[in-house]
Amino acid sequence: MTQHVVILGGGTGGTLVANRLRRLASTDEIEIVVVDQDNQHVYQPGLLFVPFGLTHPEDIVRPRARQLHRGIGFIESAVDRVEIEANEVHLADGQVLGYDVLVVATGTTLVTEETEGLTGPGWMEKVFTFYSAEGAAALEPALAAFDGGRVVVNVVDMPIKCPVAPLEFCFLADWYFRERGIRDQVELTYVTPLDGAFTKPVASERLGGMLADKGVAMVTEFNTGEVDGVGGRLVAYDGREVPFDLAVVVPLHGGGDYIGRSPGLGDALNFVTTDEHTLQSKAAPNIFAIGDAANVPTSKAGSVTHFEGETVVDNIRRFLAGEPLLEGFDGHANCFIETGFHKALLIDFNYDTEPLPGHYPSKVGLSLLKESRLNHLGKLMFQWFYWHSLLPGRDIPGIGADMPTAGKDRDDAQKVHDQKIEKGTEQ
Ligand SMILES: Cc1cc2nc3c(=O)[nH]c(=O)nc-3n(C[C@H](O)[C@H](O)[C@H](O)COP(=O)(O)OP(=O)(O)OC[C@H]3O[C@@H](n4cnc5c(N)ncnc54)[C@H](O)[C@@H]3O)c2cc1C
Repeated sequence: MTQHVVILGGGTGGTLVANRLRRLASTDEIEIVVVDQDNQHVYQPGLLFVPFGLTHPEDIVRPRARQLHRGIGFIESAVDRVEIEANEVHLADGQVLGYDVLVVATGTTLVTEETEGLTGPGWMEKVFTFYSAEGAAALEPALAAFDGGRVVVNVVDMPIKCPVAPLEFCFLADWYFRERGIRDQVELTYVTPLDGAFTKPVASERLGGMLADKGVAMVTEFNTGEVDGVGGRLVAYDGREVPFDLAVVVPLHGGGDYIGRSPGLGDALNFVTTDEHTLQSKAAPNIFAIGDAANVPTSKAGSVTHFEGETVVDNIRRFLAGEPLLEGFDGHANCFIETGFHKALLIDFNYDTEPLPGHYPSKVGLSLLKESRLNHLGKLMFQWFYWHSLLPGRDIPGIGADMPTAGKDRDDAQKVHDQKIEKGTEQ
């Protein structure tokens, strides 16, 4: 008897799960249907480069349906709600899809309306975001016309996807204004709700130092309550203000309104409550979550989504066969961080191990937490791997789903901890 797998979201996670699963089983065994609200698949890491004129929206967008292997159905419609008890998905266009297994891969939604003033007067004129294709495209001419003043890069609140992207924006802005010969006329400030540049101590220390070296000021523990696009001010809930002439804001992220309309599926932010190792939803045994939509305690990143794919597909197969699930996912995340001047650094971590210095994937390889041209080339090449290897569900040579430990320099990490304890900045 044919079993029905419905995948909500045809982005990174939905596409790679559909393609991996299609390879594993024939259309007689498993029918696979992917649902997405649109047919425009954006290579999101490319959004970082658009404002600086280094790439263009048309170079990073492809039709979604074309990324799916033959034998996978595609429905273009928004999801309205999931009825867990009935094993049904209700679409906004009125269709109802029954399922044996449901995969939630609908990523995040930018909740711009939660921040007072953000999309009010000044939006897309002097207040921008590069977290959407439209926003990144609108920012490009605004940056090109900017000839001096105060630029702030602000993360409204965590979690956000790719938590290093706003830092990369600061590094590239420093490079961009230097290239244009006006860096001394631009005040760059990074405004974050965190107490440092990043969530994990060793990387935070390293990345914070790089901001300082590049003359980017940092304002920490700033919880943005209002963006005043007319007066040019970020206003925090505690009353602090940061003035700007141009603001680049990463809005609050949520997991999607339809999850809120699907009782039991999500948490308060509408992310799917998910077992962090099996990636099975806590709402029902026949629901799995992958990528940014899951509330697992690792970064929301394409790399994480990629590494989760193996476990999700294996566990769908196991579930349908009545076998015990595999606790396969270790929280592995891996990100190139573009730092300008044709260099990048790389971080690699999982649930138990924070980003450490050393090399990836073994003692010989790309340098971790250290800038290099090779890392920059890796970041650029990744777009090719994304379309041709990751989305089609092929393994990328040398890059396994589990975090490699061989090249990690734990002594160096220990030194940073010891220094911080000496300085009294860490317990
Ligand atoms: C600026 C930027 C830079 C980034 N850089 C990196 C990087 O360098 N490295 C890295 O690893 N990651 C990076 N990321 C993050 C990465 O792109 C995401 O983590 C990844 O795409 C997550 O995959 P996903 O499948 O969970 O979600 P997505 O790929 O976002 O897919 C979600 C899909 O669900 C659909 N959807 C949502 N709601 C509904 C609904 N109600 N009905 C129907 N369809 C719906 C959407 O249309 C979308 O197609 C970056 C992201 C941004 C924004």
